[in-house]
Amino acid sequence: MRLLNYLFLFLSLSTSVAVFGIPKNSPVALNGKLQVVGTQLSNEKGEAIALHGASLGWHNLWPRFYNKSAVEWLVKDWNISIVRAAMGVAIEDNYLENPKFAMQCMTPVIDAAIKNGIYVIIDFHSHKKHTAEAKKFFTEMATKYGKCPNVLYEIWNEPDEFGWPEVKEYAEDLIQTIRAIDADNIILVGNPHWDQDLHKVAEDPIKGATNILYTMHFYAATHKKWLRDRTDDAISKGIPVFVSECAGMEASGDGLLDVEEWSNYLAWMKDRKISWVAWSVSDKNETCSMLLPRASSKGNWTADLLKPWGKLARESILKANSK
Ligand code: MG
Repeated sequence: MRLLNYLFLFLSLSTSVAVFGIPKNSPVALNGKLQVVGTQLSNEKGEAIALHGASLGWHNLWPRFYNKSAVEWLVKDWNISIVRAAMGVAIEDNYLENPKFAMQCMTPVIDAAIKNGIYVIIDFHSHKKHTAEAKKFFTEMATKYGKCPNVLYEIWNEPDEFGWPEVKEYAEDLIQTIRAIDADNIILVGNPHWDQDLHKVAEDPIKGATNILYTMHFYAATHKKWLRDRTDDAISKGIPVFVSECAGMEASGDGLLDVEEWSNYLAWMKDRKISWVAWSVSDKNETCSMLLPRASSKGNWTADLLKPWGKLARESILKANSK
């Protein structure tokens, strides 16, 4: 009996290590805590890195993909090093109306990312300003996950018709809120006109904050060379950039897939070691939804279940993350 007890103790200990330890050779095992060095996202050792992965769609529109099996599939079959959990802050049943449901969706995704050793963006997926609600939300997130190297905070997905002074004031407020709890995890800062106004940021950047990057979002069929040039100009002025949402079609999420312009963007991001996250794991009848409606909620997405953008995004992520 004593030997059996000992065996049970050993088994339960090894199980807990497997559950809570960082999986060997995973992106987080290899890179640890992220930091910003100059304009470059870097790993714990200060080496430049770029992360490549996929964003889930709005949690309140596609809650069925907010589960650990879907994340595991994206890790195993798509080789993502980062996943973005887009917590909807508009449209029916959003975070403001139903925070409990939002957390029921977000928590399994964040926890699955941690378990699989990948990075995860906790995205306050809003176009409007909700300062008080965002401060409450990120206070909870920083308290729960601030010691976790996996987590990045995206504090305002895409401000639409707000000027940079207003967005900047919001960002400074949120940065202060998060930094009071978590001194170091990466914070992603949005900017006006759906994260395309990096020239405004470059004229008047946030001062005195560490480990922040500014988001740039592009839809390749709409945003062409002018946005790459604008971003290059901002980087040359010292602005760190993270593409937390991008795709190959028009900015509506629909219309034709512009494969050539998507390739131009991929080459441009590779040259600059810019991280990118493709939009989105969802199943609507629109170009940017990667999956067909009959795709399972839990992964096992064979090629016949991926729409053209899903196939292209998966291939692009596999290529970008290959050693
Ligand atoms: Mg921290």
